[in-house]
Amino acid sequence: MEIEGKLQINFTNALYRCSECGKELEISPENYLCPNCSDRNNSSQPLRGILEIAYDFATKYDKISIPFPVREDYFPKLPVGNTPLVKSANLSKSVLQSNLFFKLDFLNPTGSLKDRASHLVSAFASSFGINEIIVASTGNAASSMAGVGASARQKIKIYVPESAPEAKIVQSLMYGAEVIKVHGSYDEAFETAMKEFYVRSPYEVVCRNTAFNPLTIEGKKTVVFEIVSQLLRVPDVIFIPSGDGVILSGVYKGLEDLLNMSLITHIPTLYAVQAEGSSSLQKGFENGSFPVLYQAKTYADSISVNVPRCGFYALSKLKKHNGKVISVTDDEIMQAQRKLAASEGLFVEPAAAAAFAGFIKIADQLQENSTNVILLTGHGLKDIVGATNSLKKTSS
Ligand SMILES: *Cc1c(COP(=O)(O)O)cnc(C)c1O
Repeated sequence: MEIEGKLQINFTNALYRCSECGKELEISPENYLCPNCSDRNNSSQPLRGILEIAYDFATKYDKISIPFPVREDYFPKLPVGNTPLVKSANLSKSVLQSNLFFKLDFLNPTGSLKDRASHLVSAFASSFGINEIIVASTGNAASSMAGVGASARQKIKIYVPESAPEAKIVQSLMYGAEVIKVHGSYDEAFETAMKEFYVRSPYEVVCRNTAFNPLTIEGKKTVVFEIVSQLLRVPDVIFIPSGDGVILSGVYKGLEDLLNMSLITHIPTLYAVQAEGSSSLQKGFENGSFPVLYQAKTYADSISVNVPRCGFYALSKLKKHNGKVISVTDDEIMQAQRKLAASEGLFVEPAAAAAFAGFIKIADQLQENSTNVILLTGHGLKDIVGATNSLKKTSS
């Protein structure tokens, strides 16, 4: 495998394929979910009929590049991704005799991994001459779409729950987005954005709602292309903070692409880490069905969801590749957040700290000398009120 600096985007012929029935559709602004499998009226359950991007991998690859269905010239100029992967400076030995790496995705331009999806969605909209994008968000997808969209001169309209951390809303307003605060939870914001989208023309506005728009899963896969190229191999385990399960699904999709391109030979173990108070995905994984009328409550706002939108898709990938789902308490998240900042100089938001808390929780089950990567998905400065409470509740 040959690696040369920054990974290039490799425009590749592709179509949408339904992850449930296999129906194939053109990649166009009209298509979001499979018309046969989706169940538009059931918002109390994860989305059905999520479309996957299926490439026509004709040749063998001797060099890593990122297959995408949109040409590189359409991508906004704001540089997204290519974040550092750093070896733990001080924690490796104290927690476990293992190789511990952190993927610093909070160093993306708007401070979260969400920029990877926003980048692809923005490029897709530009490639069809569409100038407006709407999105519902717990906060990061919003500020991300707003920032990336500003770089592409697109009009961004955002639906967030009233309770979203102020920094994320201020970010979105600074980037010039229109922000609508929805009275209720993230799930209500999601439904409000869907309602607006369904009365508009898909050639006038793109909907970036996570999991609903297949490009949100696809865009996030770049993180694992980078990890593999930075390590020069597949790690043994990757820890991923999970709410809707789109980052997790995107990482699996990236690994499957790499396998199909013959650039890797196996899929590593992924741990989806949830907050105990927002663990629908774990319940679905363990019980085979998702809870109804679940009320999520956790300090980690970015992974607080009642209904994991990408639930069925994420579960099918977890089952296929022997993945795991665990959860951690808010106290464990706060301790992990503080430990990571004080021991490594990495100040991340609670959702990202949850992934590290998950690592600590199961560290004794990991193999000696294994290579473990933790996705640090969001910046600590995005929620100062939460961090202040965490300082009060934890001891250094
Ligand atoms: C969105 C987000 C997550 C969770 O991603 P899902 O796709 O909802 O599972 C984790 N961490 C941060 C910082 C996020 O913004």
